[in-house]
Amino acid sequence: MPQDLSMFSLEGKTALVTGANTGLGQGICTAYAAAGANVIGVARRSCQETAEKISAVGGCFTEIIADLSDMQAIPQIVEEAHRAHDRIDILVNNAGIIKRCDAAKVTAEDWDAVTDLNEKMVFFLSQAFAKNWIQDNKGGKIINIASMLSYQGGIRVPAYTASKSAVMGLTRALANEWAPHRINVNAIAPGYMATNNTRNLRSDASRNDDILSRIPACRWGTPEDIAGAAIFLASDAASYVHGFTLAVDGGWLAR
Ligand code: NAP
Repeated sequence: MPQDLSMFSLEGKTALVTGANTGLGQGICTAYAAAGANVIGVARRSCQETAEKISAVGGCFTEIIADLSDMQAIPQIVEEAHRAHDRIDILVNNAGIIKRCDAAKVTAEDWDAVTDLNEKMVFFLSQAFAKNWIQDNKGGKIINIASMLSYQGGIRVPAYTASKSAVMGLTRALANEWAPHRINVNAIAPGYMATNNTRNLRSDASRNDDILSRIPACRWGTPEDIAGAAIFLASDAASYVHGFTLAVDGGWLAR
């Protein structure tokens, strides 16, 4: 047991989290604030609730309103983030959408909507921050939010599965290129978590029962469940962890 646990502290660091208004993004923002970080939340709507949770733990929160389906949002996000804080140390690519539809009926429009946000934006936002980190040579942390569908096929969500499989691949690819610059690129693969993303699944009694009966922990996960993994991967304690996707899944993958 190390005597000095300050390696897990995020004191003095600034984290930018996308999809900060709700769900897992909100949970990560609150956890980071509790661990000492200044938090910048990016969302397409108000992050009022997140701001209140952060205020309750005595943290500092800045909101950036941006639609992440549009790559043009990137320069605005970088500029507003740097206006709020000199240096951004941690980027969490959390925003994501899922569209459920039989594979035979998926439209190109829906395919693009899912992959543009879940995959293309993850790459280009990471690139935007990594460019600065490579230049200033002070390192940085990127945490991507993957999924069980980075490992498995899923049912009626082909674009989502493709995008989340890409997130796991990108996590490795970027880690390989940027580890020499002291940039850690890792991912968290949440299992089945009770958020807006899974509202439809949870309200379908038969799907809900099927899923619950397969989770060794016998319950849906919560945003608080990924806090520990998110803090660890953002902290100095993870300085030699590169390109790894950490499942926080109640044992789903072990089954
Ligand atoms: P959620 O509550 O639906 O959160 C998704 C977040 O992404 C929301 O803040 C949402 O904003 C934001 N977002 C969507 N489209 C956006 C856009 N165009 N511009 C800006 N923000 C946008 O679901 P969640 O479960 O917390 O999802 C967070 C991440 O975890 C996603 O990447 C998801 O795929 C992943 N994940 C979730 C689960 C699960 O079981 N819940 C499992 C594995 C992975 P709005 O509120 O405005 O829509």
